[in-house]
Amino acid sequence: MSPNTEWLKETLEVNKFGEIMVDGHGSTSLPGVFAAGDCTNSAFKQIIIAMGSGATAALGAFDHLIRN
Ligand SMILES: Cc1cc2nc3c(=O)[nH]c(=O)nc-3n(C[C@H](O)[C@H](O)[C@H](O)COP(=O)(O)OP(=O)(O)OC[C@H]3O[C@@H](n4cnc5c(N)ncnc54)[C@H](O)[C@@H]3O)c2cc1C
Repeated sequence: MSPNTEWLKETLEVNKFGEIMVDGHGSTSLPGVFAAGDCTNSAFKQIIIAMGSGATAALGAFDHLIRN
């Protein structure tokens, strides 16, 4: 119920719950780093949501790589 993101707090933007902040592409505040699932600021913590966000982050990473 609580994300294990303490080690990331100096590197990525996290909210007051320790959830990694991601945009609609799964991008974090650090360019080229993507996150998905319960450790992010997703509205709902359910398996199907985590799976979808994994797909989103993978596509976001692919899009980032082909553009850079
Ligand atoms: C008791 C309970 C019941 C639930 N019941 C349901 C349900 O009925 N239906 C439903 O849809 N959802 C349910 N959920 C929610 C569902 O389990 C989660 O939404 C889903 O598992 C999130 O997937 P995830 O891959 O984001 O995270 P997780 O499944 O939590 O996977 C994260 C993984 O990362 C690993 N990890 C953490 N830190 C590190 C690190 N520093 N280095 C390496 N590995 C690390 C962890 O060990 C874990 O294996 C339930 C959750 C709980 C706790």
